Amino acid sequence: MTGRLEEKVVIVTGGASGIGRGTAEVLAREGARVVITDVNEALGDEAAKAIGGDALFLRHDVADEASWQSVIAATVDRFGRLDVLVNNAGIIEVADIENTTVEQLRRVLAVNTEGVFLGCKHAIPAMRASGGGSIVNISSTAGLVGTPPFAAYSASKGAVRALTKTVAAHCQQKGDAIRCNSVHPGGIDTPLVRAITPERTADDGETVERGRAIGYGEPQDIGHLVSYLASDESRFMTGAELAIDGGLTAT
Ligand code: NAP
Repeated sequence: MTGRLEEKVVIVTGGASGIGRGTAEVLAREGARVVITDVNEALGDEAAKAIGGDALFLRHDVADEASWQSVIAATVDRFGRLDVLVNNAGIIEVADIENTTVEQLRRVLAVNTEGVFLGCKHAIPAMRASGGGSIVNISSTAGLVGTPPFAAYSASKGAVRALTKTVAAHCQQKGDAIRCNSVHPGGIDTPLVRAITPERTADDGETVERGRAIGYGEPQDIGHLVSYLASDESRFMTGAELAIDGGLTAT
């Protein structure tokens, strides 16, 4: 049986942990040749080894343009093409608008927005040379609705939503078969979410593990949607924004 992504060459940024790691696993199961990139070398190496086959880990800071150029060159050098880019790496600052410093804002924008901007900018020529491709930008429900506790994060993710539509329209105007869509997860149980979720005390006095709030999704839930967007099954879909949030933004 062949997978829906057989032979497609895929880069997943921030693939050492959480949603990126879960997504890389799903895409590999669908037959993709996966390049995991991350700033976390130990976990990234482990994630690529766990996938096995020809999965590759590359150290990559998405906020750094030279790092993007070398990751894309190394991917094409190793696998001969680039079909899919999942712009997933991201960080968060827990602070509302009155308490966010300009330094915090710039740090979040550098990774979450500039990182996606640079990824799209440098992936397009490589995908064009491969005959087309699919870019999947991981935004957030915080890019769709106001989220007072995360002012900088919300701004960074809203920009990704608009940039996605711009990239989609640009590629269409250029006549490239390159699609670009944004995915907007709600709460997913990952190290990022656990780090910002306070421990709660249950009625019986027992401490409830961080991040285990009922209703959180799993990284693979996002991976399955990304798998569809990465595949040719979604060939008529570009410039779309897809909430995957257990109904969080339905009302
Ligand atoms: P995570 O578990 O913290 O994984 C993110 C990975 O990205 C980490 O390995 C992190 O490394 C890495 N990273 C951070 N800065 C980087 C950089 N400059 N260049 C390359 N890699 C970098 O987070 P996650 O929850 O899976 O989040 C993944 C994406 O989903 C993010 O864009 C996030 O905003 C988005 N999202 C998450 C949720 C959720 O509920 N989890 C909801 C909506 C959207 P370090 O750990 O070393 O920093």
